[in-house]
Amino acid sequence: MVCALCQNHMKTSELIYLDNNATTRVDPAVVDEMLPYLTELYGNPSSGYRFGQQVGKALDKARERVAHLIGCEPGEVIFTSCGTESTNAAINSALLMDRDRQHIVTTRVEHSATLKHCETLAKQGHEVTWLGVDEKGQIDLHELEKAIRPDTAIVTVMWANNETGVLFPIHEIAEIVRKKHVLFHTDAVQAVGKIPLNLAESKINFLSLSGHKLHCPKGVGVLYVNKRTKFAPYLIGGGQENGKRAGTQNVPSIVALGKACEVAGHNLHHEKTVVRKLRDEFEKGVLTQIEGAHVNGDTEHRLPNTSNLAFEGIDSEGALMLLDQNHICCSSGSACTTGSVHASHVLKAMGLSDERARASLRFSFSRFNTHAEVEKALEIMPKVIGKLRRIAMAA
Ligand SMILES: *Cc1c(COP(=O)(O)O)cnc(C)c1O
Repeated sequence: MVCALCQNHMKTSELIYLDNNATTRVDPAVVDEMLPYLTELYGNPSSGYRFGQQVGKALDKARERVAHLIGCEPGEVIFTSCGTESTNAAINSALLMDRDRQHIVTTRVEHSATLKHCETLAKQGHEVTWLGVDEKGQIDLHELEKAIRPDTAIVTVMWANNETGVLFPIHEIAEIVRKKHVLFHTDAVQAVGKIPLNLAESKINFLSLSGHKLHCPKGVGVLYVNKRTKFAPYLIGGGQENGKRAGTQNVPSIVALGKACEVAGHNLHHEKTVVRKLRDEFEKGVLTQIEGAHVNGDTEHRLPNTSNLAFEGIDSEGALMLLDQNHICCSSGSACTTGSVHASHVLKAMGLSDERARASLRFSFSRFNTHAEVEKALEIMPKVIGKLRRIAMAA
């Protein structure tokens, strides 16, 4: 069967996909697991008869698998439609809890799911304290502590930065916030499946994760709500998700997320060793072959899969086009802001000049990348950067 559309599709065999912080390839084992719930197992998980209960059991299993990966109890896992929903829901819940607590503390380097939501809340009259970062992309914990006030509703700080991979000391931050009797949320969308997380040992109240960043389909996420933390639902209706998120569950995607979490758990060691090695090999190769290339952000506290690099004398928009022609997918800033002329807010917050921020590219790896792809990318990179510099010189 020949599909006219398919002729326009990229042949994925020639694609070198180095944009795994934007989204990831769905693991075939995940597809296998979800397929029956798109075909014969279509019962409503809330129905009382066995045809529904069977589906309800699949939800339970998925909930257990998610809980196992992040070290919490299954009852603390709420399935949502995406990481953005989870993040919005945690912040909104905190604001609804106590009328006298309407102040929010966050950072200048959050994903737009938090950043734009807080900007909107600020326009609606909520006070927001934006914590800055140093040149490595780290926040100052004393500054964080001082920012917390008696009227603070919630502190929200991401676990791992999607652009630079920089890791914040989340357990330490959670301790500080707890001592002040304030709620703490972390956007862990980029951390889950890449580094081990154990919520049982933490003072975190809320945590967000997203399926499509860990080899599951798009459009499913989780909000972890600690069992001792009160929660005000965002979606109101049926009693699904223990009354915390109404709406009939997206069963196939939730089953997929459960499987993706199980596989991610088995691969944590692989992330720390094999994926890290691919990233390091690429980064070292680029730095040795290309003059005037620099790593952006803390290389000590960083995800194993991410490399954010600045190349003197280039413009990232042009670089993305040339790399695309060479079948390499990567990004400048975050995918959500690509196409806009603004330099990355994360790199700007780190004190990088506009010029250097606009000369930066993010490469993010996954267990589906290969050594051969890294070698091929290392052949292409010096040519592309050289060409861009020659064009810039001529102009
Ligand atoms: C991708 C991402 C999100 C948003 O998740 P969606 O499921 O796409 O809504 C939020 N935070 C971070 C850090 C992300 O990388």
